Amino acid sequence: MSNESVMGSSLGGDRVFPPSPEFVAQANVADAAIYQTAAADPEAYWAEWAKKLDWIEPWTEVCQWNPPHAKWFVGGKLNVSANCVDRHLKTARRNKAAIIFEGEPGDSRVLTYQDLWREVNKFAGVLTNLGVTKGDRVTIYLPMIPEAAIAMLACTRIGAIHSVVFGGFSADSLRERINDSKSKVVVTSSGSWRRGNIVRLKDTTDAALDGGACPTIENVVVLSRAIDPTMVRMVEGRDHWWHRLEESAPRLTEPVAVDSEDGLFILYTSGSTGKPKGIYHTTGGYLTQANATFQWTFDIKDTDIFWCTADVGWVTGHSYVVYGPLAAGATVLMYEGAPDWPARDRFWATIEKYGVSVFYTAPTAIRSFMKWGTEHLEKHDLSSLRLLGSVGEPINPEAWLWYHENVGHKNCPIVDTWWQTETGAHMITPLPGIVATKPGSATRPFPGITLAVVDEEGNPTPAGKDGLLVIQKPWPSMLRTLWGDDERYKNVYWSKFGEKNLYFAGDGARQDEDGYLWLLGRVDDIMLVAGHNISTMEVESALVDHHAVAEAAVIGRTDAIKGQAICAFVTVKEGQTADEALIKVLKAHVGVKLGPICRPDDILFTAELPKTRSGKIMRRLLRDIAEGRALGDTTTLADPSVVSGLKDKYEQSE
Ligand code: ATP
Ligand code: MG
Repeated sequence: MSNESVMGSSLGGDRVFPPSPEFVAQANVADAAIYQTAAADPEAYWAEWAKKLDWIEPWTEVCQWNPPHAKWFVGGKLNVSANCVDRHLKTARRNKAAIIFEGEPGDSRVLTYQDLWREVNKFAGVLTNLGVTKGDRVTIYLPMIPEAAIAMLACTRIGAIHSVVFGGFSADSLRERINDSKSKVVVTSSGSWRRGNIVRLKDTTDAALDGGACPTIENVVVLSRAIDPTMVRMVEGRDHWWHRLEESAPRLTEPVAVDSEDGLFILYTSGSTGKPKGIYHTTGGYLTQANATFQWTFDIKDTDIFWCTADVGWVTGHSYVVYGPLAAGATVLMYEGAPDWPARDRFWATIEKYGVSVFYTAPTAIRSFMKWGTEHLEKHDLSSLRLLGSVGEPINPEAWLWYHENVGHKNCPIVDTWWQTETGAHMITPLPGIVATKPGSATRPFPGITLAVVDEEGNPTPAGKDGLLVIQKPWPSMLRTLWGDDERYKNVYWSKFGEKNLYFAGDGARQDEDGYLWLLGRVDDIMLVAGHNISTMEVESALVDHHAVAEAAVIGRTDAIKGQAICAFVTVKEGQTADEALIKVLKAHVGVKLGPICRPDDILFTAELPKTRSGKIMRRLLRDIAEGRALGDTTTLADPSVVSGLKDKYEQSE
């Protein structure tokens, strides 16, 4: 049951983009031999990276693998905040910008490494005064402001485990995560700016906590932002202003020695596939791989200004706004607000304002920019950019090319990085000075990562054939378990291939003749039409390939004859007419690109697609709609009204 004989490919492979000689000449890593060196002895290779960190006590063993549990840098002790801040003070980086902050209203702040050190020390003292000690959990519910990084680093300074909850989550979601992690303290802010409005985070925190709904919470720390402090409800004895607590806290807090395998953070996944899982990461291995991938994937130099648009509430924000950049002593930009506020050129204006040189964003954002049109970019000088990145979903080749031409002006390599909350750091990505890219392919594993595309039995699939992505050897930043539920950890990730001990990522993939990896989306989303596996990703890319289409989500709905019928939800670009004629054109377009079997049976136009708060398309809800079922868990949706509106529209169209 393969699709290679019945469909063409929208995923190309015909267009190859090698890095320019100028890029290669200055690249951090340009010798392809690194792939062989790392593969020959991954442990020795990772140990070299680990040695780039400051250790308080050395490790005695690089990796201990008792499937499915791994330990890295066993016996070693270190402190994450000391690695991300203190050690830079001994170098010329002391006076370098660590964090450049751009608030949505246009307020701006720069924290040098020295400034960051002072703030982290003070806030570590605050947490200590509140009785937080090593191993305790702290929930951080903050907007994209420097205090989010400061609170995270302060936790690491005293060995507390943080659980960052995205500031856009509801009271119910926050409560569920607080209770699952049994946090002692919540750190939040009174408010934050989003599209010119004030988001009242403290009110949401109150709604989560009130009535004793979170029995483990002893204290709430509130940072003052966006709201007059006298207008904020403070519960006596429970709630404290951040700045008041700092007045009585010690100015210095020594970093504690933390075991390499002690907990660093818990992070609940975005929930594209159901109930959020508490992904548990530990210290030494995580920091090693976050640092390594940050430096090589993004080819980072001391002069770079790196901007990752992800919120700190997602793993991308953990690894590439906070830990990777700061461990590397880089300068990172944090932006608080929306990409279309006050206008649709905000990102481009921000790149121009700060001279951003490396820009890392998500396909969902790129598709919005495509929909809005290029006039917003043309107003700005983007010549400071030298490298672009993508993460979060497979990137449609059309979106890749648009990014390449309009943002990168054809001279920035694009790194399409595949990884997961569970993997902690990049797993598949081009090294931009070595690997020629193909639009839509994440290319090859990062050096030191051993993975494969396999069939249902766990045997490698031949080139060109669809299969399942598995990771064959433990890697430093892998999740150690699911918080409080090791059985679920074993079941979800390790049970599929039994004795073979393969980590099952849940994604489908294909490897081409050149060994390039093409991610095909979540296995749960893959359709089975008249006996043929068809990737939702490929049909979506064929739709987006049409000039009228901005975005598409494709699902398989149960069909008495074919098993599944292909149902497409399509958003058109601004100025395009979404009518019956276009439906015919699009069905034909997909038929020509991929073969008649891939022609959508239904196409429904919609202004928005249902997405998680991290911007990923939630196909399982579209399946519920198309099959007339009650909707599954919708708590992680960005905008629940999109789904209810679509449900009505779909029912009317039948
Ligand atoms: P949940 O596991 O709760 O359903 P999630 O999988 O969306 O949520 P993340 O860990 O943030 O949570 O996302 C990882 C997933 O995102 C990957 O498994 C993959 O499906 C997708 N993904 C991330 N980056 C890429 C990429 N570059 N190419 C293709 N898919 C990607
Ligand atoms: Mg996942």
